[in-house]
Amino acid sequence: MAHIIVIGAGLGGLPTAYELRHLLPHHHQITLISDTPQFTFLPSLPWVALGLTALESIQVKLLNRLEPRGIHWVQGRVEGIDPDNRQLIVNQEPLSYDYLVIATGAELDLDAVPGLGPDNGYTQSVCNPHHAQLAQQAWQQFLKQPGPLVMGAVPGASCFGPAYEFALLADHELRKRGLRDQVPITFVTPEPYAGQWRRAIALQGAWVGWAKTAFEQYFLAKMRLGAAVPWFERLALKGVGLLLVEPLATSSTDCLHGTPC
Ligand SMILES: Cc1cc2nc3c(=O)[nH]c(=O)nc-3n(C[C@H](O)[C@H](O)[C@H](O)COP(=O)(O)OP(=O)(O)OC[C@H]3O[C@@H](n4cnc5c(N)ncnc54)[C@H](O)[C@@H]3O)c2cc1C
Repeated sequence: MAHIIVIGAGLGGLPTAYELRHLLPHHHQITLISDTPQFTFLPSLPWVALGLTALESIQVKLLNRLEPRGIHWVQGRVEGIDPDNRQLIVNQEPLSYDYLVIATGAELDLDAVPGLGPDNGYTQSVCNPHHAQLAQQAWQQFLKQPGPLVMGAVPGASCFGPAYEFALLADHELRKRGLRDQVPITFVTPEPYAGQWRRAIALQGAWVGWAKTAFEQYFLAKMRLGAAVPWFERLALKGVGLLLVEPLATSSTDCLHGTPC
C-alpha cells in the first residue's frame, strides 16, 4: 500500500486527489491537505469583486465531502517537507508519505512594488478571496462617488487575464448604471503589447463572461460531485470520440513503483 499526499485543495490539488482516487486501487491511501476549509474557483473572483457573484457560490466546502469518497482530508498548513525521510510537518505533527503532490499555487509578492495591495498598500486586488471581498467593498464605495479609475497589472505579474476581465466587466457595469461618462479609465500593463486585450476585444466581454461562467459551473459541479469523470463528461468525451484513462486493474500484487505493497 502506498500513501499519496496532495498539498493544496485549489484548481490543481482537488481534481488531482479525485483523479488519483479514480485511477488507483483502494488499498492505496490518498490524503489531501488544505489550509482552507473550502475550494474556491479563483478565475471567478473578478465577478465577486464587482458584486456580480457571491463568494460562497464559487466555493465548495470540503468537510464531509472527501472522506465518503475515500480521500482523507487534513485541514492545516504544511510547515515543512523532509524529502529524505518522506515526511511532512503539518499542524506541528509529522506525517509520512510515499508520494507527494505539491499544488500550493502562487504566493503574492506585494512587497515587490511599494504601496501595492489592499492590506498594507493603496490598491485593490482580485488575486485571492480575501482581496476580492475587500475590492467589493471598495467598488461599492466607488459607485457612490465615481471618478477616474486606473486598472491593470504590475511589472512581474505572471497572470494578466484577470486585469483585462476586470476592466471589461467594470466598463460594462458602469455603462449599465449610466456612470461611464464620469469614469475615465486608464489601463496600465508592463506587457510589451496588449496581447490579451486584443483577444478580449475579439471575443467581446460578453463572450468571455459566458464562456467562463459555463466553465465555472461545469468545474464546480465536478468538484461538488467529487467525481473525477462524471457521467456528463463521459458522454461528452464519447461524443467527440475521445477515450478515457481507465483505473488501474486491482489485484493483490498491485503496487506503485518503488513502494512496498
Ligand atoms: C482572478 C483570477 C482569474 C484567473 N483566471 C484564469 C482563467 O481564466 N484561466 C486560467 O487558466 N487560469 C486563471 N487564473 C489562474 C488560476 O486560478 C491558477 O493558475 C490556479 O488557481 C492555480 O492552481 P493551483 O492549484 O496551482 O493553486 P491554487 O488554486 O492557488 O490553490 C493552491 C491551494 O493551496 C493552498 N496552500 C498553499 N500553501 C499551503 C500549505 N503550505 N499547506 C496547505 N495548503 C496550502 C492554498 O490555500 C490554496 O487553496 C486566474 C487566477 C486569478 C487569481
